Parts: sequence; structure tokens; C-alpha cells
Amino acid sequence: MASPAGIYIHIPFCRHKCNYCDFFSKPIDEEYVRKAYTRALLKEIGFYGAKYGKNFVADSIFFGGGTPTLMEPELIDKILAAVRKSFFIAAGSEITMEGNPATVTAEKLRRYRQSGVNRLSIGAQSFDDEILSSLGRVHRAADITRTVELAREAGFDNISLDLMFAVPGQDMNQWLDSVKKALALKPQHISFYSLEIEPATVFGDMLESGALKETPAEVDREMYHRALALLDTAGFVHYEISSAALPGRECRHNLKYWDLSEYLGLGAGAYSFIRDTRYNNIDDVEMYFHTMWSQDSASLRHCNDSQAFASDCVSSCSVNSYRDSVTDYVFTALRTRRGVVFKEFSHKFKNEFWDLYSQQQAEFEKFVRAGYAEYDDRRLSLTRKGIDIASRITRLFM
Ligand code: SF4
Repeated sequence: MASPAGIYIHIPFCRHKCNYCDFFSKPIDEEYVRKAYTRALLKEIGFYGAKYGKNFVADSIFFGGGTPTLMEPELIDKILAAVRKSFFIAAGSEITMEGNPATVTAEKLRRYRQSGVNRLSIGAQSFDDEILSSLGRVHRAADITRTVELAREAGFDNISLDLMFAVPGQDMNQWLDSVKKALALKPQHISFYSLEIEPATVFGDMLESGALKETPAEVDREMYHRALALLDTAGFVHYEISSAALPGRECRHNLKYWDLSEYLGLGAGAYSFIRDTRYNNIDDVEMYFHTMWSQDSASLRHCNDSQAFASDCVSSCSVNSYRDSVTDYVFTALRTRRGVVFKEFSHKFKNEFWDLYSQQQAEFEKFVRAGYAEYDDRRLSLTRKGIDIASRITRLFM
């Protein structure tokens, strides 16, 4: 039997576009737009529910963005009710909402919790107001502390904080101070990302004009490893390249991306992986509205002759070949501390790992001897040192 799937719901609205952000999100903060978007989402949920129905078993729901905490609690309640009506949502499912500390209130958090949201992922990024301002964030450090306190009062006992390092102008002390302040709030999970400056962002333009300098790679790596040392001391398990959690508090939803489980993405710009098929919805809110208004459930079609269904909102769709699935699996599994577990691999792909990769074994063993990777007869993974050259090692298996 397939493992339970995940459901991802994209909320593409933010109060303001951050200077580094290239996610699909629009600076729109209007209640009537959120209501219209919810109506479109309900229609999309109904379409997929009519096709997959209660055979679609999920044990995680993830509201990502954008800024899901801009949504009125009654809208989240309606969306969750529709998801529960349309699919089989397992008892004890993880229901996560990403949130920006500047957009929450005690009342909102209490009502999200009442609707069944049981995990809050807070985009903290930094506890330094100057850094937050340079990033173009709309919140300040005090808002993070307040949000965590309000979330606890509202009954959340599973809280994650996102942090960002290698921000131009950020020194080591500022970074470690943020990690310590995050730990002092006693979250169950911390994600920590190195800032990547992308084109078509404010930072991208500044980099091009010479107004901004990227953090040198060696400083980036030192920031990463020194944060890991603090997380180790606090009892966190470093279970994925950018994620650490208290034992048992790993993000169930993200684990699905890394072990090639299925997930259904709903909303403008959302990605799905169902029945070996990857597809994504159009990343244009207006087009998403218009298409949803004009569509009926009968028009859901098979996506490129696969077993997955696609609505007219789907802008691209590709069916994984056997080799695509193997390389996707190895690539994502190597992001995790568990790595590639041979028994799982052979169960999934009906082949032994080293039979498929016999030509790469000698090269891989060089990385093992140099301390970048390790393997035995059960599994293969990167060491912490190996994470710094992860792309070189994973390329071997692509
Ligand atoms: S809050 Fe998140 S999604 Fe919104 S603009 Fe900032 S980084 Fe992007």
C-alpha cells in the first residue's frame, strides 16, 4: 500500500515583497481577493475530490506561501472543511500553516488552532532588526517573540522557526545571536537557509549594479556549521540539510518531498507529484481565478496519459520515467541524514542500488575515503563535511 500523501495549499499573497524573494507571491492584502481566491480553491478541491475521492489518503496538509496567516480564520476553516469532505484525512494528521509574525493576532491563532491547524511555521529569518529591515521583512524581532507566545497561548505545541544566514552585511555574531534567540524560544523545529540571491529580485538588481556583495562561500559554510553545533547542544536532530528538529518533530510534509511520496498541490503556482507525474498550476492569480470559474469537474483530464488528473489550471506536466524517479529519489534522499536506505530503494525500484550504480561505486568510494560520505550494507549518506560539496556528490548519481 502506498504511504499517505500530502496536500499543499498555496496562498500567494504577502503584505510586501521581501527584497530577496523569488517565490510565487504577490503584494496583495485585500479581503475581497482572499475571499475570491478561497472560492476558486474550494472549486479546485471539489474537482480533485470528485476524481480521487476518499481513496486519496493524506496525513499532512501544508498551507504555504506567500503568507497564509494573512487569511481570515473563517476562510481557512472553509478550506479545511472542504479538504476533509473531499479526501481521506488520517487521524493525527500534521496540519501546518506558514506565518509571518507581522500578520498574526491572538484571535487569529486561536481560530486557526480550532480549525485543526496544529503546526505553525514562522518566517522569523533573523532576530536583528537591521537585518530584517535590509531583507525587506515587514516584521521586527519583538514580533517573533510575541507570535511564539501567542501561538503557545492558542494551544500550538509544534512550532518551527525559519532562519536565514549569509545575508549581506550580517556578521557571525549577529547570526549566532539569532540562532541562540530562536533556541531560547524553545521551538520544536528550526529551518536554516543560506540566502541565495536570485535574479529578478531587489537583491538581484543590487548585486548586478554592484550595490550588494555576496557573502564569501567560506563564511557561509562557517555560519552553517557553527549553527549546527548550537543546535546539537540544544538536542536538535539535524535530519535534513537545512532542517533540525527535536526527536519526533521532523516536518512530516517536507519528508514527503525527500522520499518521493505523493503530494497534491492546490492553488495558483502549486506543484504536485501524483502517480509518477509532476505538474504545476499556473503561477498567475487572475488566470487561476478565470480558469477555475469557467471549468467544471468533467473537464479534469488525464495528465499526459498518466494516471494523474489535471485541471485546466495546470501549465506544465511531465511523467517521470523510471530513471527520473530513481535520480529524483537519490537526489532528495541524499539531502537527509538517513540518506538512501538500500532496502527501501530496492522495494521502490525493484532493483538493487549498486546494480544500477555499479559504474559510480569506485568514484563514490573516493568521497567516502575523504570523509565526505559514508555507507555500509544498509544505507548511504553524506557526512556533515560532505554537505558542503553535496552537489558534486549527488551529480555522480544523476
Ligand atoms: S513573506 Fe515570504 S513569500 Fe512573502 S515576499 Fe517575503 S519571502 Fe516572499
